[in-house]
Amino acid sequence: MGPLARVVAVALAGAVSSFAPPSADPCPPGTADAARAAIVRALLAETPDGARLAETGTAPSAVCFVAGEGGLADRAALLDRTASPAAQAARLGHLWQHVRDGAPRLAPTSGEGCAAWHAAAAAAEARGDAVESRVVRALGAEPPTGRPSRDAAYASRCLESER
Ligand SMILES: [Zn+2]
Repeated sequence: MGPLARVVAVALAGAVSSFAPPSADPCPPGTADAARAAIVRALLAETPDGARLAETGTAPSAVCFVAGEGGLADRAALLDRTASPAAQAARLGHLWQHVRDGAPRLAPTSGEGCAAWHAAAAAAEARGDAVESRVVRALGAEPPTGRPSRDAAYASRCLESER
């Protein structure tokens, strides 16, 4: 089954099943789409990584669709609304791995030192990226392109924190 046929099959299955999204919806205004979120969650659940993440007892609190790459907002997963459902599922896996690990801190805490923080953040991103690429392959999605360099962003946050 090709990716498009799979999405249609998942959407049809979702329409007759009792898929229950979380009751509270922490999506930023205008970014919630329960039907699309159900499709993306179901696609991820088909993959070994999705099954493994589901067994951890953790989960993003919501799946929301935004302009741009997104990321985690608290524990809500913000996904690029222009990406394909399979690419969104892969990104959801990446962000879910962060929720499971405890999301990467966005800047060093005082006294932590830039190098230690950067190493921890890079390791967390490597785990997220590994999940994302496995889900991309499992679902036959296009690999993500055009991401801004996280290393450069992290390095500038280090410099800011040391001022
Ligand atoms: Zn990440």
